[in-house]
Amino acid sequence: MESGEKYDVIVIGTGMGGSACGAILAKHGFKVLILEKNPRVGGSCSYYEKEGFKVDMGTHMFIRGNKGPFGECTRRLGMGTPLKFVRTPGLAWVRGFNVDACMPASYARMPPFLLRSLIQAEVPVKKIPSITRFFIDTMRMSEEKIEEWNERTVEDYISLYTDDPFLHSIMGYLISLYFILPSWQSSAGEAIWNFQHFVRDKSLGYPKGGAVVIPQTFLEGAEMHGAQVLTDTPVEKIIMENGGVAGVVSEGNAKFYAPVVVSTTALEDTVRKLVGRDYFPSSYAKMAESIKSSYIAVQAKIGLKKKVTEVGCVCGSYPFKVPRDNITPDSMREKFQLVEKGIHPENTAIYCPIPSNFDPDLAPPGMQLLTGCSVAPTTDIELQDPPRVWIDNMLTALYEMVPNAKENVLFEDTFTVDAIASWIGKSSGAAVTTGQTPDQVGDKRPGYRTPIKGLYVCGDGAGARGVGTELACQSGMECADLINLESRRG
Ligand SMILES: Cc1cc2nc3c(=O)[nH]c(=O)nc-3n(C[C@H](O)[C@H](O)[C@H](O)COP(=O)(O)OP(=O)(O)OC[C@H]3O[C@@H](n4cnc5c(N)ncnc54)[C@H](O)[C@@H]3O)c2cc1C
Repeated sequence: MESGEKYDVIVIGTGMGGSACGAILAKHGFKVLILEKNPRVGGSCSYYEKEGFKVDMGTHMFIRGNKGPFGECTRRLGMGTPLKFVRTPGLAWVRGFNVDACMPASYARMPPFLLRSLIQAEVPVKKIPSITRFFIDTMRMSEEKIEEWNERTVEDYISLYTDDPFLHSIMGYLISLYFILPSWQSSAGEAIWNFQHFVRDKSLGYPKGGAVVIPQTFLEGAEMHGAQVLTDTPVEKIIMENGGVAGVVSEGNAKFYAPVVVSTTALEDTVRKLVGRDYFPSSYAKMAESIKSSYIAVQAKIGLKKKVTEVGCVCGSYPFKVPRDNITPDSMREKFQLVEKGIHPENTAIYCPIPSNFDPDLAPPGMQLLTGCSVAPTTDIELQDPPRVWIDNMLTALYEMVPNAKENVLFEDTFTVDAIASWIGKSSGAAVTTGQTPDQVGDKRPGYRTPIKGLYVCGDGAGARGVGTELACQSGMECADLINLESRRG
């Protein structure tokens, strides 16, 4: 297509948000152009190829499979359920906080896992009834009650059930993992909603073909409904005319025109870089600039010459053993305050999905792919410990977590936070650009509509509920429906 061409809607970005939004808009009958700055689509869920491996750019597992927004999106596009989510029998090997146990995919095998974990963590028997009550209450909570918990923290919620410092810390850590935020910064309502869907949908897994097949499939649906997708086309500016949007300018002054533009980059970047702060009411610009994001991670992609484990994911914290008295809400806060100052804490949290155990085709026969990461500050925090310290600590912890991995390394690619930030084009590099804090969920989340006529935002920065990728996909679909509704109303 030619520069200068006119569309109904231009969507910026092909991550989960942009690909879902563009596809649903095309299904609604709009003439849609979807622009991606990178040579490959998928944003955080993109990939690269190396020595016969198909390697995820991010570090992902997916909570709800086809039962959540991914399945809804492909069904709405008339594609049925082409995405195939796989679950390994041993889903997550949990190592750390004195626990060393494998969470099974089968619910029938869950009680022995839970019992073993409680025994290893030396949880006193008398505390078990309150933990049981916590699970029952959480699973039974109504939508209305969940809304009431939106504006309080996970830490507040857990305090209702236990005053045991160790248990409090571990429960808070586990239930806030979804959001890459600590328990005192995560919204309890958001956590309860996600926990309910995680348990009810029984779908935690990974798609055949790698994470990128999800946005790729949405984009196939978009093209099937007439949308056009252009890679290697960074949007440099959104064109403004008469106080509303008129299109976008890309590299080499290529212009594409549309009365509606949807941006899926971070809201602050949309306001400051793509449009210009002065076009917005100052209250909106200030809101965009004061958004709190989640944290992010340094990452390692490790190709192994042979398969060293059968599990789908290894996660936890290294060193594995910690004196029970050393784990308290206060000590967790102190550790996190170090991260907030750019200092690496003494413990290293690890999350390491093993994509080739879900889909062996992602690695050459008999080989294995580890995609590990470890929490790190966003780029707006000045690092006192340099990137190498964060990466070396992650690698030490990873090789302790996955026995026999170090001896079988074929390649070891590591990524700083700057590297992922540059790939996704979001300045802070956050995993979730509008973090799910108590003041940024539910009706307090930035909306899809902006004060500028024709400018909409979606992805993980605006609207919806859910964990990372599913939040972004849900947001993309809801934004497309809103644009459709508003255009029909005129
Ligand atoms: C290390 C890591 C681990 C994570 N783990 C999980 C997990 O296990 N499960 C989970 O569900 N979520 C996880 N997440 C979060 C999840 O990946 C994101 O929340 C989600 O994918 C964001 O989707 P998005 O569409 O909003 O943005 P992105 O995927 O970031 O897509 C934005 C797209 O816009 C493009 N773009 C930006 N600016 C421009 C421009 N000017 N012109 C053209 N294109 C542009 C980018 O290149 C990119 O393709 C993780 C994230 C990270 C980084």
